[in-house]
Amino acid sequence: MARDSSPQCKQCRREGQKLFLKGERCLTDKCGVERRAYPPGDHGRGRQKQSEYRVQLREKQKARRYYGVLEKQFRIYYDKASRQDGITGENLLSILESRLDNVLVRLGFAGSRRQARQFIRHGHWTVNGRRVDIPSFQVSEGDVIAVKAGTPVEPLIRDATEMTAQVPAWLQADHDSLTAKVLRKPERREIAAPVQEQLIVELYSK
Ligand code: SF4
Repeated sequence: MARDSSPQCKQCRREGQKLFLKGERCLTDKCGVERRAYPPGDHGRGRQKQSEYRVQLREKQKARRYYGVLEKQFRIYYDKASRQDGITGENLLSILESRLDNVLVRLGFAGSRRQARQFIRHGHWTVNGRRVDIPSFQVSEGDVIAVKAGTPVEPLIRDATEMTAQVPAWLQADHDSLTAKVLRKPERREIAAPVQEQLIVELYSK
């Protein structure tokens, strides 16, 4: 299965902001953006030319990296969003936000999307009683998410719950039993991704 294995701190530095890709480390002074607040590479400290295209491209790359999605999959999501009723940019974010790996992070069941993906691929989570090992699985209203009984990674999952201050209102989590329910689709104001989705729509509409 294709995946982006490029260094995560470099991805944040390229986008010029913290994307919180590494869980707990992102909250410490070891954070790559805190230590080197300039883009990676030999010319990282040089002046960057800011064209309209470049701004739109960077916004799309930032969204991709934040959710850990490869280019091809991201384009498929965009095409799906553009076919749905409503605002394409908001539809796109809603689709990204509803990926199971992202939902586990929002619920506090994983410290990062990369960790969530690993837990899912190794079969530690179920949706509506059935094992789901596809990180891009789209959750729907009414879905019940639960950890597989006896999973050896339960201590890691419980560690992650302690880092979570708040679960968004479209989800309901029980951190004792490690179960959760999807109450509805996320609304735009509930999606905390640092992304201006309109710029992505403008990029793909060219
Ligand atoms: Fe990004 Fe986290 Fe690395 Fe900081 S520590 S640069 S937020 S991945």
